[in-house]
Amino acid sequence: MRLKPSKIVCVGLNYRDHAREMQLETPAYPVIFLKPPSALIFNNDAIIYPPMTKELHYEAELAIVIKDRIKNIKKEEAVKHILGYTCGNDITARDLQRLDGQWTRAKSFDTFCALGPEIVSGIDPGNLAIKLYLNGALKQSSNTSNLIFDPNYIVSFISQVMTLEPEDIILTGTPAGIGPMKVGDTVEVEIEKIGKLTNKVVKPK
Ligand code: MG
Repeated sequence: MRLKPSKIVCVGLNYRDHAREMQLETPAYPVIFLKPPSALIFNNDAIIYPPMTKELHYEAELAIVIKDRIKNIKKEEAVKHILGYTCGNDITARDLQRLDGQWTRAKSFDTFCALGPEIVSGIDPGNLAIKLYLNGALKQSSNTSNLIFDPNYIVSFISQVMTLEPEDIILTGTPAGIGPMKVGDTVEVEIEKIGKLTNKVVKPK
């Protein structure tokens, strides 16, 4: 699987269980941020642990792949503009996220957006088990039915802000259970009906 998105749009705080874990109110609208396309890696590629952080976190997420150029579409129209879904890992330097007060640096290092193993279309994204394993141990376990804002709503919402292009990626937010990774760890994101995304954390060359 290879993709060349013009942008990667991410939704912060979009699972009820994660909002409880963070002791945050359920948001009234999706809070969005961007990752650069230079952050992209795919199944079995390495996640590089940057020297600038001491707190590298995983975040298992359902990823939406956009099919067409779209702008200002209604929620009801969104489904026909979605190419498919894949597993995502929104890798985050948690210490830098706290330090900076906004998220660009913390979310944007090379290798900080893992996607794969393939794009699956024709599935209902509304009721899929989503799990994350670190070195084989289950760390996150939820279901996309716990999403505060569903994929069709998110696509419509983002399209009110910016033109979405073919192969653009939307990461829909992570459930409860976020936590740290270290060099040598293997991280796997598994979503029902999609498959398993595997990446290993390595030190920079
Ligand atoms: Mg995230």
